[in-house]
Amino acid sequence: MAVILTLAEHRDGKLRRASLEAVAEAGRLAGSLGASVVSVVIGSGVSGLATELGHYGAARVHVFDDPLLGAYATEVWARALAQVIAATQPTVVLIPFTALGKDLAPRLAAKLGAGLVSDCVALAVKQGRLEARRPMYAGKSFATVAWEGEPQMATLRPNVFALSAADTSKSTEVVKESVDASARAKVTAVKATAEGKLELSEAQVIVSGGRGLKGPEHFHLVQELGDALGAAVGASRAVVDAGWVDHQMQVGQTGKTVSPSLYIACGISGAIQHLAGMSSSKVIVAINKDADAPIFKVANYGILGDAFEVLPKLTQAAKAYFAAKG
Ligand SMILES: Cc1cc2nc3c(=O)[nH]c(=O)nc-3n(C[C@H](O)[C@H](O)[C@H](O)COP(=O)(O)OP(=O)(O)OC[C@H]3O[C@@H](n4cnc5c(N)ncnc54)[C@H](O)[C@@H]3O)c2cc1C
Repeated sequence: MAVILTLAEHRDGKLRRASLEAVAEAGRLAGSLGASVVSVVIGSGVSGLATELGHYGAARVHVFDDPLLGAYATEVWARALAQVIAATQPTVVLIPFTALGKDLAPRLAAKLGAGLVSDCVALAVKQGRLEARRPMYAGKSFATVAWEGEPQMATLRPNVFALSAADTSKSTEVVKESVDASARAKVTAVKATAEGKLELSEAQVIVSGGRGLKGPEHFHLVQELGDALGAAVGASRAVVDAGWVDHQMQVGQTGKTVSPSLYIACGISGAIQHLAGMSSSKVIVAINKDADAPIFKVANYGILGDAFEVLPKLTQAAKAYFAAKG
């Protein structure tokens, strides 16, 4: 039987949402391709994650669980995946388009001599082959891409592919694997700067602020609306470059690509480089006092007004709504 292989990424002992989206998408394609879904999980103390992957549709999970695999190393992860690919000969390989996926997938594709389509936002099966849709020119246009040869490798933009409901009655076959963990380059330490903050690329609701906030002393207005909505907080590059907030909050071409259900842009003009990172959001709300700001062209809802007046009102309304809801 044909195989669709997915890489299951995890953090702090939990599967990342993008990994589950990849399994769900593999499940949807599997019907048309007459394939089964096989996942690979690599790390230290990760064996328990196989069960959850099974609930989301992985018929089999190859597990590399070794204390030597505690920190991500491109070379070792590529070696492990190549090993499973050699054994299972998948027709399709799906990897989340996360920081790890962006680093790993090209290395793996080069190692296999396979075609890689990155940052896919839709996949379809046409005459037994995969076809991908991906943004080009910072989201100004979309390309439809087909592969030559196999495996057909794709990285999937997080938050775009729908999650399937977990079915806890589903079980999965577990295959224990091992790999040579030696690498020429290794991560020796990870310094997380966003402790306790919601990860932008996985957030379902994002409130972002731009230069319209006038100065770092006003950015709390954005943060407060974010807190009231349980949202992650992002920013335009202009405010990151000005040093108001940390670079990891930057959304856009040279920042993070996000696809939340709701994106609220406050005092952001909507430059093409910013749109590149957020235009695939499902609902976009723009708050801007310039009716001609380009952000209104992509917004589903526009609030023409002063962010200094609108933000506190929205925060208050959100607090009242959630308080009433209990
Ligand atoms: C190679 C390259 C890569 C780039 N990558 C990125 C990227 O990844 N992400 C990114 O964001 N940008 C990126 N940029 C920069 C981008 O071109 C813009 O300069 C930037 O996005 C502008 O940020 P802004 O919208 O906050 O500021 P501005 O363009 O200055 O817009 C501020 C907006 O706030 C509005 N405003 C002002 N006062 C108020 C108020 N009181 N209430 C409401 N609205 C108000 C104004 O009408 C205006 O529309 C990149 C540029 C280049 C050249």
